[in-house]
Amino acid sequence: MSAGSAWDQVNELMVGGIDVHIHTNPHTFPEIHAQDIIGLAQQAHQAGMRAMVVKDIGVSTTGATYVVTRLGPGIPIYGAHVMNLATGGINPRGVWIALNHGDGAKVVHFPTGDTLNHVQYRKAFYAGVNPPLPDELAITVVKDGKLIPEVKEVIDLVKQKGAFLATSHLSAAESHLVVKAAKDQGLDRIIVSHALWAMTRLKMDDLKHFASLGCLIEFEYCLMAPIMYFVHGEPPADPRNIVKAMKEVGIESCFISSDLGQIYSPLPVDGMRTYVAILRRCGITDAEIKVMFHRNPARIAGLD
Ligand SMILES: [Zn+2]
Repeated sequence: MSAGSAWDQVNELMVGGIDVHIHTNPHTFPEIHAQDIIGLAQQAHQAGMRAMVVKDIGVSTTGATYVVTRLGPGIPIYGAHVMNLATGGINPRGVWIALNHGDGAKVVHFPTGDTLNHVQYRKAFYAGVNPPLPDELAITVVKDGKLIPEVKEVIDLVKQKGAFLATSHLSAAESHLVVKAAKDQGLDRIIVSHALWAMTRLKMDDLKHFASLGCLIEFEYCLMAPIMYFVHGEPPADPRNIVKAMKEVGIESCFISSDLGQIYSPLPVDGMRTYVAILRRCGITDAEIKVMFHRNPARIAGLD
Protein backbone atom coordinates (compact mmCIF):
# COMPACT_ATOMS: atom_id res chain seq x y z
CA MET A 1 0.00 0.00 0.00
CA SER A 2 1.47 3.35 -0.94
CA ALA A 3 1.66 6.19 1.57
CA GLY A 4 -0.92 8.09 -0.44
CA SER A 5 -3.60 5.43 -0.43
CA ALA A 6 -4.42 5.52 3.30
CA TRP A 7 -4.89 9.27 2.96
CA ASP A 8 -7.13 8.72 -0.08
CA GLN A 9 -9.24 6.31 1.99
CA VAL A 10 -9.54 8.87 4.77
CA ASN A 11 -10.69 11.45 2.22
CA GLU A 12 -13.23 8.98 0.84
CA LEU A 13 -14.68 8.59 4.34
CA MET A 14 -15.06 12.38 4.58
CA VAL A 15 -17.58 12.18 1.73
CA GLY A 16 -21.00 11.90 3.34
CA GLY A 17 -19.64 12.73 6.82
CA ILE A 18 -21.64 14.89 9.21
CA ASP A 19 -20.24 16.91 12.12
CA VAL A 20 -22.96 18.03 14.53
CA HIS A 21 -20.85 19.95 17.06
CA ILE A 22 -18.86 22.91 15.73
CA HIS A 23 -18.02 26.37 17.08
CA THR A 24 -17.66 28.96 14.34
CA ASN A 25 -18.09 32.69 13.92
CA PRO A 26 -20.37 34.49 14.45
CA HIS A 27 -19.77 33.15 17.98
CA THR A 28 -19.52 34.42 21.53
CA PHE A 29 -15.84 35.36 22.10
CA PRO A 30 -15.13 35.78 18.36
CA GLU A 31 -11.42 36.46 18.96
CA ILE A 32 -10.75 32.85 19.96
CA HIS A 33 -12.71 31.28 17.11
CA ALA A 34 -10.76 30.58 13.98
CA GLN A 35 -13.20 30.42 11.11
CA ASP A 36 -16.49 31.95 10.09
CA ILE A 37 -19.44 29.90 8.97
CA ILE A 38 -18.91 30.77 5.30
CA GLY A 39 -15.34 29.43 5.32
CA LEU A 40 -16.55 26.39 7.23
CA ALA A 41 -19.29 25.67 4.68
CA GLN A 42 -16.85 26.01 1.78
CA GLN A 43 -14.32 23.67 3.36
CA ALA A 44 -16.95 21.09 4.33
CA HIS A 45 -18.50 21.21 0.87
CA GLN A 46 -15.09 20.75 -0.76
CA ALA A 47 -14.48 17.69 1.41
CA GLY A 48 -17.81 16.23 0.24
CA MET A 49 -19.42 16.34 3.66
CA ARG A 50 -23.18 15.97 3.79
CA ALA A 51 -24.25 18.41 6.53
CA MET A 52 -23.20 20.14 9.73
CA VAL A 53 -24.71 21.50 12.92
CA VAL A 54 -23.04 24.53 14.51
CA LYS A 55 -23.33 25.65 18.10
CA ASP A 56 -22.71 28.85 20.08
CA ILE A 57 -22.55 28.96 23.88
CA GLY A 58 -24.47 32.26 23.78
CA VAL A 59 -27.18 32.58 21.15
CA SER A 60 -29.00 30.07 18.95
CA THR A 61 -27.27 29.54 15.61
CA THR A 62 -30.48 29.14 13.62
CA GLY A 63 -30.12 32.55 11.91
CA ALA A 64 -26.61 32.31 10.48
CA THR A 65 -27.13 28.68 9.45
CA TYR A 66 -30.38 29.50 7.61
CA VAL A 67 -28.57 32.08 5.51
CA VAL A 68 -25.44 30.05 4.74
CA THR A 69 -27.53 27.02 3.78
CA ARG A 70 -29.22 29.13 1.11
CA LEU A 71 -26.39 31.43 -0.02
CA GLY A 72 -23.42 29.16 0.68
CA PRO A 73 -21.76 26.53 -1.48
CA GLY A 74 -24.57 23.98 -1.28
CA ILE A 75 -24.17 22.07 1.97
CA PRO A 76 -26.97 22.28 4.54
CA ILE A 77 -25.81 23.74 7.86
CA TYR A 78 -28.20 23.60 10.80
CA GLY A 79 -28.49 25.45 14.06
CA ALA A 80 -28.40 24.43 17.70
CA HIS A 81 -29.61 26.00 20.91
CA VAL A 82 -27.76 26.00 24.22
CA MET A 83 -29.74 26.63 27.41
CA ASN A 84 -27.11 28.85 29.03
CA LEU A 85 -28.06 32.01 30.91
CA ALA A 86 -27.77 34.05 27.69
CA THR A 87 -30.88 32.29 26.36
CA GLY A 88 -32.68 32.28 29.71
CA GLY A 89 -31.36 28.98 31.04
CA ILE A 90 -33.86 26.10 31.12
CA ASN A 91 -36.38 28.32 29.39
CA PRO A 92 -39.12 26.54 27.39
CA ARG A 93 -40.12 29.75 25.63
CA GLY A 94 -36.59 30.30 24.34
CA VAL A 95 -36.39 26.66 23.28
CA TRP A 96 -39.70 26.92 21.40
CA ILE A 97 -38.39 29.90 19.47
CA ALA A 98 -35.10 28.19 18.60
CA LEU A 99 -36.98 25.10 17.39
CA ASN A 100 -39.20 27.21 15.15
CA HIS A 101 -36.68 29.81 13.96
CA GLY A 102 -35.19 29.38 10.48
CA ASP A 103 -34.81 25.67 9.76
CA GLY A 104 -35.26 24.96 13.49
CA ALA A 105 -32.52 24.02 15.95
CA LYS A 106 -31.62 20.34 15.44
CA VAL A 107 -30.06 19.99 18.89
CA VAL A 108 -31.15 21.55 22.18
CA HIS A 109 -28.24 21.40 24.60
CA PHE A 110 -28.48 21.64 28.35
CA PRO A 111 -26.20 24.45 29.58
CA THR A 112 -22.44 24.27 29.14
CA GLY A 113 -20.23 26.52 31.30
CA ASP A 114 -23.27 27.87 33.17
CA THR A 115 -24.15 24.54 34.80
CA LEU A 116 -23.51 24.33 38.51
CA ASN A 117 -21.66 21.11 37.73
CA HIS A 118 -19.19 22.87 35.44
CA VAL A 119 -18.86 25.94 37.67
CA GLN A 120 -17.86 23.71 40.57
CA TYR A 121 -15.60 21.50 38.47
CA ARG A 122 -13.63 24.38 37.00
CA LYS A 123 -12.89 26.10 40.33
CA ALA A 124 -9.71 24.08 40.72
CA PHE A 125 -7.98 25.35 37.59
CA TYR A 126 -10.28 26.80 35.01
CA ALA A 127 -9.03 29.69 32.87
CA GLY A 128 -11.45 29.11 30.06
CA VAL A 129 -14.00 30.67 27.83
CA ASN A 130 -16.83 31.45 30.25
CA PRO A 131 -17.05 34.52 32.43
CA PRO A 132 -16.88 33.72 36.15
CA LEU A 133 -20.22 32.78 37.64
CA PRO A 134 -21.19 32.54 41.32
CA ASP A 135 -22.70 29.22 42.40
CA GLU A 136 -26.06 30.80 43.18
CA LEU A 137 -26.52 31.93 39.55
CA ALA A 138 -25.36 28.65 38.03
CA ILE A 139 -27.93 26.28 36.54
CA THR A 140 -28.98 22.93 37.90
CA VAL A 141 -31.94 20.88 36.71
CA VAL A 142 -32.62 19.50 40.19
CA LYS A 143 -34.49 21.13 43.04
CA ASP A 144 -35.26 19.30 46.31
CA GLY A 145 -34.04 16.09 44.68
CA LYS A 146 -36.50 16.37 41.78
CA LEU A 147 -36.27 17.61 38.21
CA ILE A 148 -37.48 21.17 37.77
CA PRO A 149 -40.76 21.30 35.77
CA GLU A 150 -39.21 23.37 32.96
CA VAL A 151 -37.13 20.35 31.94
CA LYS A 152 -40.29 18.36 31.21
CA GLU A 153 -41.63 21.20 29.07
CA VAL A 154 -38.36 21.35 27.14
CA ILE A 155 -38.49 17.57 26.58
CA ASP A 156 -42.02 17.87 25.17
CA LEU A 157 -41.02 20.67 22.81
CA VAL A 158 -37.97 18.79 21.54
CA LYS A 159 -40.06 15.67 21.01
CA GLN A 160 -42.78 17.52 19.08
CA LYS A 161 -40.20 18.92 16.65
CA GLY A 162 -38.18 15.71 16.24
CA ALA A 163 -35.01 17.43 17.44
CA PHE A 164 -32.33 15.96 19.72
CA LEU A 165 -31.75 16.77 23.38
CA ALA A 166 -28.10 16.81 24.55
CA THR A 167 -26.96 16.40 28.17
CA SER A 168 -24.07 18.81 27.52
CA HIS A 169 -22.30 19.78 30.78
CA LEU A 170 -24.75 18.29 33.26
CA SER A 171 -23.36 15.99 35.94
CA ALA A 172 -23.85 12.25 35.57
CA ALA A 173 -26.48 12.34 38.32
CA GLU A 174 -28.41 15.10 36.53
CA SER A 175 -28.08 13.27 33.20
CA HIS A 176 -29.67 10.17 34.73
CA LEU A 177 -32.69 12.19 35.88
CA VAL A 178 -33.04 13.98 32.55
CA VAL A 179 -32.69 10.84 30.42
CA LYS A 180 -35.20 8.98 32.57
CA ALA A 181 -37.72 11.81 32.24
CA ALA A 182 -37.13 12.01 28.49
CA LYS A 183 -37.69 8.27 28.06
CA ASP A 184 -40.82 8.44 30.26
CA GLN A 185 -42.15 11.21 28.03
CA GLY A 186 -41.39 9.21 24.88
CA LEU A 187 -38.37 11.17 23.67
CA ASP A 188 -35.84 8.77 22.13
CA ARG A 189 -33.61 11.33 20.43
CA ILE A 190 -31.05 11.93 23.18
CA ILE A 191 -27.33 12.71 23.02
CA VAL A 192 -25.11 11.94 25.98
CA SER A 193 -22.39 14.54 25.46
CA HIS A 194 -18.69 14.55 26.35
CA ALA A 195 -18.62 10.84 27.14
CA LEU A 196 -15.03 10.74 28.35
CA TRP A 197 -14.53 14.19 29.84
CA ALA A 198 -14.05 14.00 33.62
CA MET A 199 -16.20 17.13 33.97
CA THR A 200 -19.38 15.14 33.23
CA ARG A 201 -18.45 12.55 35.87
CA LEU A 202 -19.81 9.83 33.56
CA LYS A 203 -18.45 6.32 34.10
CA MET A 204 -18.49 3.39 31.69
CA ASP A 205 -21.50 1.88 33.48
CA ASP A 206 -23.41 5.14 32.91
CA LEU A 207 -22.51 5.17 29.21
CA LYS A 208 -23.56 1.54 28.77
CA HIS A 209 -26.82 2.21 30.59
CA PHE A 210 -27.61 5.23 28.39
CA ALA A 211 -26.68 3.27 25.25
CA SER A 212 -29.03 0.46 26.31
CA LEU A 213 -31.83 3.06 26.44
CA GLY A 214 -31.13 4.11 22.86
CA CYS A 215 -29.16 7.30 23.57
CA LEU A 216 -26.35 8.30 21.23
CA ILE A 217 -23.01 8.68 22.99
CA GLU A 218 -20.81 11.54 21.75
CA PHE A 219 -17.02 11.37 21.43
CA GLU A 220 -15.55 14.79 20.54
CA TYR A 221 -12.19 15.36 18.87
CA CYS A 222 -11.68 18.34 21.18
CA LEU A 223 -10.92 16.04 24.10
CA MET A 224 -7.68 15.02 22.31
CA ALA A 225 -6.61 18.62 21.62
CA PRO A 226 -3.93 20.63 23.49
CA ILE A 227 -6.65 23.10 24.49
CA MET A 228 -7.42 20.61 27.26
CA TYR A 229 -4.17 21.61 29.00
CA PHE A 230 -4.61 25.34 29.15
CA VAL A 231 -8.37 25.80 29.11
CA HIS A 232 -9.43 22.85 31.21
CA GLY A 233 -6.22 22.13 33.12
CA GLU A 234 -6.07 18.43 32.31
CA PRO A 235 -4.19 16.27 29.83
CA PRO A 236 -5.75 15.55 26.42
CA ALA A 237 -7.29 12.10 26.00
CA ASP A 238 -5.33 9.19 24.56
CA PRO A 239 -7.07 8.16 21.32
CA ARG A 240 -6.51 4.50 22.16
CA ASN A 241 -8.64 4.97 25.27
CA ILE A 242 -11.34 6.67 23.21
CA VAL A 243 -11.45 3.70 20.83
CA LYS A 244 -11.52 1.27 23.76
CA ALA A 245 -14.49 3.15 25.22
CA MET A 246 -16.34 3.22 21.88
CA LYS A 247 -15.99 -0.56 21.59
CA GLU A 248 -17.10 -1.10 25.17
CA VAL A 249 -20.18 1.10 24.70
CA GLY A 250 -20.91 -0.49 21.31
CA ILE A 251 -20.17 1.31 18.05
CA GLU A 252 -23.84 1.32 17.02
CA SER A 253 -24.60 3.72 19.90
CA CYS A 254 -21.67 6.08 19.32
CA PHE A 255 -20.97 9.04 17.11
CA ILE A 256 -18.04 11.35 16.55
CA SER A 257 -18.06 15.13 16.38
CA SER A 258 -15.35 17.77 16.43
CA ASP A 259 -16.36 20.36 19.08
CA LEU A 260 -13.62 22.32 17.28
CA GLY A 261 -13.33 25.83 15.92
CA GLN A 262 -11.19 27.38 18.67
CA ILE A 263 -7.95 28.96 17.41
CA TYR A 264 -5.89 26.50 19.46
CA SER A 265 -7.07 23.47 17.52
CA PRO A 266 -7.27 22.29 13.91
CA LEU A 267 -10.16 23.73 11.90
CA PRO A 268 -13.27 21.53 12.26
CA VAL A 269 -13.10 19.88 8.83
CA ASP A 270 -9.36 19.26 9.15
CA GLY A 271 -9.96 17.91 12.63
CA MET A 272 -12.57 15.42 11.47
CA ARG A 273 -10.24 14.24 8.71
CA THR A 274 -7.51 13.69 11.30
CA TYR A 275 -10.01 12.02 13.65
CA VAL A 276 -10.98 9.54 10.93
CA ALA A 277 -7.30 8.76 10.29
CA ILE A 278 -6.63 8.32 14.02
CA LEU A 279 -9.62 6.00 14.49
CA ARG A 280 -8.50 3.84 11.55
CA ARG A 281 -4.99 3.70 13.03
CA CYS A 282 -6.42 2.63 16.40
CA GLY A 283 -8.50 -0.27 15.09
CA ILE A 284 -11.84 1.18 14.01
CA THR A 285 -13.02 -0.23 10.67
CA ASP A 286 -14.29 1.88 7.79
CA ALA A 287 -17.78 0.41 8.28
CA GLU A 288 -17.67 1.48 11.94
CA ILE A 289 -16.53 4.98 10.97
CA LYS A 290 -19.55 5.20 8.67
CA VAL A 291 -21.84 4.32 11.58
CA MET A 292 -20.31 6.99 13.83
CA PHE A 293 -19.63 9.72 11.25
CA HIS A 294 -22.33 9.21 8.61
CA ARG A 295 -25.33 7.24 9.89
CA ASN A 296 -25.80 8.31 13.51
CA PRO A 297 -25.06 12.02 12.94
CA ALA A 298 -27.54 11.94 10.03
CA ARG A 299 -30.25 11.12 12.57
CA ILE A 300 -29.18 14.12 14.66
CA ALA A 301 -29.20 16.45 11.64
CA GLY A 302 -32.72 15.23 10.84
CA LEU A 303 -31.60 13.52 7.62
CA ASP A 304 -32.63 9.97 8.56
ZN1 LIG B 1 -19.06 22.49 22.21
